[in-house]
Amino acid sequence: MHISLLDIVFPAACIVCDIKPKPLCRTCVPIASVSELQGFDFPVLAGFRHEGAIEKIIAGYKDQQLVSLEKPLGELVAEVLKEVGPSQFSAIITPARNQKNYRKRGFDPANRLVKRAIRGLAKPPKVISLSSTRKLEDQRRLGRLERARNVAASMRLDSKLSGPVVLFDDVLTTGSTLREMARACRAAGVEVGASCVLAERISIF
Ligand SMILES: [Zn+2]
Repeated sequence: MHISLLDIVFPAACIVCDIKPKPLCRTCVPIASVSELQGFDFPVLAGFRHEGAIEKIIAGYKDQQLVSLEKPLGELVAEVLKEVGPSQFSAIITPARNQKNYRKRGFDPANRLVKRAIRGLAKPPKVISLSSTRKLEDQRRLGRLERARNVAASMRLDSKLSGPVVLFDDVLTTGSTLREMARACRAAGVEVGASCVLAERISIF
């Protein structure tokens, strides 16, 4: 594939099928199929298996910073959130930022996607990022045990909230981030009513 400078500045081909001119053609938008994941002490809904089109779109957004993919991704997040009825919760909670990734990207994907997803709601809940209590390694480089160790007791909920919350993260791999998010909310006396992830890539390793 030939890449010109203009393509880098204005990505002009679909991230999924590589046909010009849109960053994502309508026919390449995948259809969510929401499923409940097992092994958590709170409900976890996932919109996609992390593969194929959704994997390419998420990578384009998070790793290539193609912000034009935020709108279609936000719409897919809205589909998953709809399943838990987001308006009944006092807030949607997103993970504490990894500072290194945040500096590299200049944005917080999970937080931005949720904010985009709830734009159309009549009664949108607040969107709150957890704070980090220490520096985190990028989870993507780590194995299952290392991930759990890396993220354990690393997040804190600073806001005072009355009702139950829903947790959101973009991609779930081992579930250690989501479990830490739940622990942080409960430590602040806040009930976790449900959680959603856009895509899951649970594997046995
Ligand atoms: Zn396409």
